Amino acid sequence: MDFPEIDHNTKLIGVVGHPIKHSLSPLMQNIAFALRKLNYIYVPFDVPSNNLEDAIKGMLALRIRGFNITIPHKEKIIQFMEDVSEEAGVIGAVNTVINENGYLHGHNTDAFGVSKTLEPFKNDLAGEDVCVFGAGGAARSIIYTLIRFHKVKTIYIINRTLQKAELLRDYFAAKMHFASIKSLELMPPDLVKTLANSKLIVNTTPLGMYPNIDDSPTDFVESFHSNQIVFDVIYNPLKTKLLSLAESQGATIINGLKMFVEQGAKSFELWTGKEMNKEEIYERLTSELKK
Ligand code: NAP
Repeated sequence: MDFPEIDHNTKLIGVVGHPIKHSLSPLMQNIAFALRKLNYIYVPFDVPSNNLEDAIKGMLALRIRGFNITIPHKEKIIQFMEDVSEEAGVIGAVNTVINENGYLHGHNTDAFGVSKTLEPFKNDLAGEDVCVFGAGGAARSIIYTLIRFHKVKTIYIINRTLQKAELLRDYFAAKMHFASIKSLELMPPDLVKTLANSKLIVNTTPLGMYPNIDDSPTDFVESFHSNQIVFDVIYNPLKTKLLSLAESQGATIINGLKMFVEQGAKSFELWTGKEMNKEEIYERLTSELKK
């Protein structure tokens, strides 16, 4: 593939997180820029929390076009934005920033990725119970999408730190006037029945992500069934231990790659005004992840 030459016109985009070394965003976005012959380059920046403010000042000074924000800065970044999109404001997290002449605008494209991923299941989810493992940035996008587009009955947030699940429950109850959210600790055995009665189970924790592929949020549950959908936002590996188990018990499984490509395509569009070649990118990332 021909990559554009880097010169004084090259627009710089970054991803800011900590740690950042496993992110596939640089690969995805640089291929996407090259396919569209755009003079852009995408670079990973490993920035710990105590350096976030300085990193933002540096990016403004360098007039970078925009950046993605990932773990652990998606919520903290909001205070540095001139304004945020309606969606990012409701979700309470920003993953994409555009720099318009020194003014930083925050967006949340994760929610778009979630809604595109769950679109084919729209008719299956209305009036159903859902379990969400985790209470971080990804959980916020999932919960927002489920409330806004899927009219689910009850959302159970299951988290290692119960207090964080409770905060998220109260947050969405106030922000989206959705009272049917419950918080549970990541502890058996109370969970088994709740999981069995749920139509959709979503993992938004890093449990099972490369290199810790033997981890799973539901090590104690071995009873998925064919009437369930199990969605793991992890895409490396493409089939986590959770998805393998769910599939072997007849459930419909979804990995995080479509969400990843869709959120990336939306960010690409915000920075460049152009459409990403999503299908080609999806194929290329799939072969990369199968290596
Ligand atoms: P985050 O804000 O840091 O939240 C992580 C959540 O996972 C927290 O609720 C945390 O629990 C829980 N957790 C972390 N380690 C755990 C462990 N060892 N045992 C049990 N629970 C644990 O992270 P995030 O931004 O939501 O991202 C979470 C995952 O989603 C990552 O794997 C990320 O790569 C993936 N993701 C995928 C996409 C996609 O496009 N496919 C997009 C965004 C994120 P505590 O509250 O107890 O700390």
